[in-house]
Amino acid sequence: MEGQHQGQPQDQQADCIFCRIARGEIPAQVVHESADAVAFRDLNPQGPTHVLVIPRRHIPQLHQADDAALLGRLLLMARDIAEREGIATRGYRVVINNGPDGGQSVDHLHLHVLGGRRFTWPPG
Ligand code: 5GP
Ligand code: ZN
Repeated sequence: MEGQHQGQPQDQQADCIFCRIARGEIPAQVVHESADAVAFRDLNPQGPTHVLVIPRRHIPQLHQADDAALLGRLLLMARDIAEREGIATRGYRVVINNGPDGGQSVDHLHLHVLGGRRFTWPPG
């Protein structure tokens, strides 16, 4: 069904922070939007650039995601944001935290796009 990938209510959770941002119920500094994804600045940035890319649909974790085309569009949006933010040349990091050991604190799939400083590896 076409509507299922376009943020229709049945794909959303009433009390999820990121669903609420996607619906415009909670303010966020939105930097980019598409039919099925939204990108906005992280409230607690870990670098000069820290943008979150989310699907409009409520998908709790990467582990529950099965829409390969949507996942591809989220990655490409992350790449486009790095370009727009001027961090593509020097490099940037795209992160998906999954579950408790992965450090996921918001149960709505999101990609972190981080840049503007040098990140270390391995992460803490
Ligand atoms: P996680 O730890 O789940 O991978 O990342 C969640 C991210 O969401 C954190 O970096 C946190 O700062 C950010 N965050 C949590 N609540 C809000 C919010 O209400 N607005 C925005 N813009 N970011 C949020
Ligand atoms: Zn949600």
